[in-house]
Amino acid sequence: MSKLEGSVVIVTGGSRGIGEAIIRRLAHEGATVHATYNASSASADAIAAELTAAGFSVRFHQLDVRDGAACQRFVETVLAESSRIDGLVNNAGITRDTLLLRMSESDWDEVIATNLRSVFTMTKAVLRPMLAQRQGRIVNISSVVGITGNAGQANYAASKAGVIAFTKSAARELASRNILVNCIAPGYIETDMTGKLTDQQRQALLQSVPLGRAGTGDDVAAVVAFLLSEDARYITGQTIAVDGGMVMLP
Ligand code: NDP
Repeated sequence: MSKLEGSVVIVTGGSRGIGEAIIRRLAHEGATVHATYNASSASADAIAAELTAAGFSVRFHQLDVRDGAACQRFVETVLAESSRIDGLVNNAGITRDTLLLRMSESDWDEVIATNLRSVFTMTKAVLRPMLAQRQGRIVNISSVVGITGNAGQANYAASKAGVIAFTKSAARELASRNILVNCIAPGYIETDMTGKLTDQQRQALLQSVPLGRAGTGDDVAAVVAFLLSEDARYITGQTIAVDGGMVMLP
């Protein structure tokens, strides 16, 4: 049997990149997936049409994760349609990279609202159904930059470090209710987000990857599927780096 047969899982930011790979993987593992997009409606429609035609259960919803009330309404819609929520994958994220002297308050606020506050609002929104079901899994997508820091990414690194600390706190608070909360810290994954890098930046990054290649969305999606599965039943509060060895956690 597929690992996630019968599970209902929410994935934010499923219209491109890592999120798209996650929804494809979870659908293949048998989950009913409620994915969100913000602006990429054409891509979301195409992915949903393809996966539905192949017999998978994938539905896209428009959601700006910066809007807390909209997050709450979205979760109510998922409950109305699927009656339960077994997993939440907080994947949506943005960068607004620039050096500190040039970083505006809006560069800071946009990144914190999209990457960190949304993790709080989405987690809070799914808690009631997960508590009622006496089980739940939450997987947050952080970044290795949230562990190491990075010049030009003070806003992004702070948001991703916040996601790691949020994960640990939520894991401690919710463990007794059988709600497991974990985090993935991807390294250099080829998506639109990293497509903005110059060739020089790309080469420098690759030199810091012991496995010698950039990661793919599928590399991250495989770990998400594991953390949502019964096989990960004794893991909570952890950050797993999916980075080809870039950052080796103690
Ligand atoms: P992409 O830029 O390729 O995709 C970002 C996704 O987030 C899109 O689906 C986008 O939706 C969605 N999104 C952006 N803003 C919002 C918003 N306000 N509300 C809802 N959805 C939104 O990024 P990646 O796939 O590369 O990144 C996915 C996650 O992985 C992010 O959290 C990122 O920080 C993290 N990560 C990525 C790494 C990499 O190397 N690529 C490394 C480490 C971490 P839409 O298409 O509709 O705009």
